Amino acid sequence: MKKLAIIGFGGAGYNAARAVRQRDREAVIDVYSDTDTAPGNPMLTTYYVKGAIPWEAMFPYGSLEQIAAQLNLNCRMNCPVTGLDAATKTLRLADGTQAQYDGILIATGASAVMPPIPGLDLPGVFKMRTVQDAAALKADLDSGAVKSGLVIGASWVGIKVVEDLVERSVPCTLVDGAPWMFSVAAFEQTARRVEADLRAKGVEVSCGQMLDHIEQAPDGRLTAVMQTGDRFTADRVAVCIGVRTNTGFLKDSGIAMGRGVTVDSRMRTNFDGIYAAGDCCEAVDIQSGTHRNIGVWANAGRQGTVAGANLAGGDEEFDANVLVNLAHYLDYDFISMGDPSICRPADEVYEYEGNGLYIRAVREGRRIKCINMIGSADGNGIVKSAFIKGIENPEAELDIKTICLLKGKGFPDGFINFLGGKRLD
Ligand SMILES: Cc1cc2nc3c(=O)[nH]c(=O)nc-3n(C[C@H](O)[C@H](O)[C@H](O)COP(=O)(O)OP(=O)(O)OC[C@H]3O[C@@H](n4cnc5c(N)ncnc54)[C@H](O)[C@@H]3O)c2cc1C
Repeated sequence: MKKLAIIGFGGAGYNAARAVRQRDREAVIDVYSDTDTAPGNPMLTTYYVKGAIPWEAMFPYGSLEQIAAQLNLNCRMNCPVTGLDAATKTLRLADGTQAQYDGILIATGASAVMPPIPGLDLPGVFKMRTVQDAAALKADLDSGAVKSGLVIGASWVGIKVVEDLVERSVPCTLVDGAPWMFSVAAFEQTARRVEADLRAKGVEVSCGQMLDHIEQAPDGRLTAVMQTGDRFTADRVAVCIGVRTNTGFLKDSGIAMGRGVTVDSRMRTNFDGIYAAGDCCEAVDIQSGTHRNIGVWANAGRQGTVAGANLAGGDEEFDANVLVNLAHYLDYDFISMGDPSICRPADEVYEYEGNGLYIRAVREGRRIKCINMIGSADGNGIVKSAFIKGIENPEAELDIKTICLLKGKGFPDGFINFLGGKRLD
């Protein structure tokens, strides 16, 4: 009987446990978590804060008791793993004990970055990652004490905190150190539109603003002092400046790492029988061919499933690790696919505006490098699948079904042709 360990119980850990159980009814599966909650979906935290969903909805797979019973898991909650000897597949636990396994999955996710900048530990400065973060912010906003907010970090998480504030009519300012919003995903041209559209919804936006420190006045109000000398004052400050993989416990383990655990398309690390999945890992980015940490919910689930199947003796691959994201906020959609930083002035640009849709896409030869869209989250999945197929085979034309689906969703012929579609007469 195999003895397996899953470290971390989020989307990746849960899907791995399920995949193991589908193949192996006998294996002993020990799950280690540093929390006492069921596997949650961090992207739902801001929906809970604004009151759109109840507490339980942040846990899409059910309660811990249900999951443990259904999948026959030994859940060791509030039991962080503090070290790993990869050569002997031995875990060190916070209580000083050790446990040895036949196979291990590292699925420890990532945490919000709170760098050692003066003032980040002041009361009223918060982050957004865990259900506990969400509970604290919701209680604070529900109390009515928050009359203004400053959000530092104009990307996927920051924009959702902006939404939480705006929907409660709390005046809000959004700042970022990068020259424009969504800087890792958006072309400047797209970002300037996104910024203007956000200002039209009443949010102050200021980019190119690196935080120097935060001060607190005797009345509790906080002032973020920027390296430019500009000052932004608010009752609360949200720090949403990125995440760091939870891999500190792997120091000295011998596991190969970059910004996260390095894995191949089968989610294998450099040690036989040890896998990693989700936000804690760097899988191969199919666009660049290099290892890249792409922390998105769908990846975590799929990577967990693949790792779990392989832990149980299967041979599955994850072959869709690529930068794709959809930011839905304040009845607005910004969608990005691919990496704008690899685009060059000589590349061909397609731009369209009409019917509530803005598109900017760049390709080199037939190879699409990056697509930005504002509006039309509805057809997003079809464009994403065409984009991924194009990476796999840039010379292939879009099939007729995809062309019809894209036309049905209202995408202009010029865009369909740009993606690799033939003109349909
Ligand atoms: C506000 C917000 C908005 C988001 N929006 C989107 C979105 O729009 N689209 C999208 O695709 N993604 C979004 N994401 C990202 C998405 O939620 C993550 O990519 C995904 O949840 C990662 O799952 P995971 O299982 O890898 O990690 P996690 O969910 O972080 O789970 C890892 C678990 O491991 C535990 N752990 C850590 N260290 C240890 C240890 N040493 N021992 C034991 N346990 C440990 C952690 O406490 C955690 O419970 C968002 C995230 C946030 C916070």
